[in-house]
Amino acid sequence: MVDLKSQYEKIQQEIDNAVIDVIRSTQYINGSEVKNFQQDLEKYLDVKHVIPCANGTDALQVAMMALDLKPGDEVITTSFTFVATVEVIALLGLTPVLVDVLPDTFNIDPESVKRAITPKTKAIVPVHLFGQCVDMEPLMEMAQEHNLYIIEDNAQAIGADYIFKDGTRKKAGTIGTIGCTSFFPSKNLGCYGDGGAIFTNDDALAQRLRVIVNHGMEVRYYHDSVGVNSRLDSIQAAILRIKLRKLDEYAAARRKAACFYDRAFANHPGIKTPVRSKFSTHVFHQYTLVIDDLDQFALQKFMGEREIPAMIYYPVPMHMQKAYIDPRYNEGDFPVTEMLSKSVISLPMHTELDEEQLQFITSSVLEYLG
Ligand SMILES: *Cc1c(COP(=O)(O)O)cnc(C)c1O
Repeated sequence: MVDLKSQYEKIQQEIDNAVIDVIRSTQYINGSEVKNFQQDLEKYLDVKHVIPCANGTDALQVAMMALDLKPGDEVITTSFTFVATVEVIALLGLTPVLVDVLPDTFNIDPESVKRAITPKTKAIVPVHLFGQCVDMEPLMEMAQEHNLYIIEDNAQAIGADYIFKDGTRKKAGTIGTIGCTSFFPSKNLGCYGDGGAIFTNDDALAQRLRVIVNHGMEVRYYHDSVGVNSRLDSIQAAILRIKLRKLDEYAAARRKAACFYDRAFANHPGIKTPVRSKFSTHVFHQYTLVIDDLDQFALQKFMGEREIPAMIYYPVPMHMQKAYIDPRYNEGDFPVTEMLSKSVISLPMHTELDEEQLQFITSSVLEYLG
């Protein structure tokens, strides 16, 4: 699905030098590169605070810990997401409240969120799925009205712009109370191992987040709250600094590939190509088709026989996962999510796709569909 080798080869000298510099510095943990990357990312996102951490799942967990959410508190999110979003809610003893998504963007449906708000609701976790922002303005209004926190799961849309009705723009992940991201290798800003970060414009919250990722410790060996150990290591930070400088260029390469796909499928009546919403730019973490009456696994197998990877994100909605079965939810409760889980297929999407590959991928899909 991604070609990390070709991408690396283009920046090999720079990366190798940066990694060797960290090794020679022996500052493997919390070295100067971590601080430098933090500042670079703050500048890029135009956000006051970036708190690096070990992965995107930790980022979400630490965010919820910092907001002092208590068992029984309800957190609204979507059933059509990667498990981490729901996992951390459950892990902290909070109550996940799942809602449906919109069929065009695959993102959380603000109207469903509104209906799900109860006196116990404390937070909303919008997931900017596949590289495009959730429509944040309606959610921000609800948060204001009901005094709720918004934690943006921005693991898939780093670099995307949210466009407000008045035309102003903010980077995905910097709109709500807290934003979370992942630097897993296949994400749009991926390192060469695990990594993550938390963003906020709130000074007091930033301080709490920094203490929590560091064992609840502000003064060394004095622990004022229960924390975790969640660090970004210096080698990953050095790599991320280099890749951050290329992030917009990488997004442009992804967009170009997406346009090629769009054109190739434009005339096929059974294929729905990704919609670009007016309130967000798209950084194409995934390029996901919706195809009616499709046996996705058969298409995936057909592509696999030609050595073309294709993935189904996500084949089983959260409310139908064994770990998250809940008497509150039944099959049929989230019709859009369930429809999508049966009809989506994501094609290879990365920064190194050339026309020949794109041609082969698109003609293979079209040949299969007939
Ligand atoms: C990847 C991802 C995460 C988790 O990130 P990790 O770094 O793998 O822990 C969380 N949410 C979403 C939507 C993701 O895609």
